[in-house]
Amino acid sequence: FVRPWIFIRGVPSMDFLPPEGPLEVAFAGRSNVGKSSLINALVGQAGLARTSNTPGRTQELNYFVPDGYSGNAGDLPPMALVDMPGYGYAKAPKEQVDAWTRLVFDYLRGRATLKRVYVLIDSRHGIMKNDDEVLTLLDKAAVSYQIVLTKTDKIKEAGVPRLIAETLEKIKKHPAAFPEVLSTSSEKADGLEELRGAITEAVKQ
Ligand code: GDP
Repeated sequence: FVRPWIFIRGVPSMDFLPPEGPLEVAFAGRSNVGKSSLINALVGQAGLARTSNTPGRTQELNYFVPDGYSGNAGDLPPMALVDMPGYGYAKAPKEQVDAWTRLVFDYLRGRATLKRVYVLIDSRHGIMKNDDEVLTLLDKAAVSYQIVLTKTDKIKEAGVPRLIAETLEKIKKHPAAFPEVLSTSSEKADGLEELRGAITEAVKQ
C-alpha cells in the first residue's frame, strides 16, 4: 500500500472501463455502510474516496491507483482499487436499481483482472435482504468475495465474535463467499492491517 493513491476515472458504463492491466480488488456495500471511510483509512488518505456521497447521484465505478503509474505497458502498478456505487438506497427508483445491477453484473462477469470483491456490512445491521441479493449476484458472476464488517466501534466488543459467527452461518449458502469474515472500524483504525493483508494475498493468487 504505497502512497499516494490517486483517482483515475469514474466509469458509468462498460465502454469507459480502463484497459485491463493491474489486478483489481473492488469494494461494495449499501449506501452509508462506511465504504469511503474504509478506503480512505486503508490507504491512509483522508480525502481519496468521497465520504457521505449523496445517495442517488451518478453511479460509477471509481478507479484508484498508486500515483506514478504511467499507463504504459510494462509499468503496471501492483493493483487498482475499485469503489463500486453504493446500493440499497430506500428511495432509489427501479430504473436506478436496474442500472446499478447491469453495470455491476457486467463488470463482475467481464473483468478478468478482478481478483476479489470486499462486501462491506454494517456491524449494527448484519447481512440484510438487499446485501443477500448482492451476494447472490456475486455468486452468479462467480467472483470471489469476502465479507468485511464495518463500524465495529458502534457495537459492544463482545458482540463482534458473535456477529462474525452469525455472518459465517449466513454465507454458508453462498458458494463464492470466502469462508472468513473480517471486522473493521475506520474510526478506531481497527482491523485495517488484517484487511490490507487479505488484499495483498488476494492479488497474489
Ligand atoms: P459510504 O456511503 O459507504 O461511503 O459511507 P461513508 O464512509 O460516507 O460513511 C457513512 C457515515 O458513517 C459517515 O457519517 C461516517 O463518518 C460514518 N462512519 C464510517 N465509518 C465509520 C466507523 O468505522 N465508525 C463510526 N462510528 N462511524 C463511521
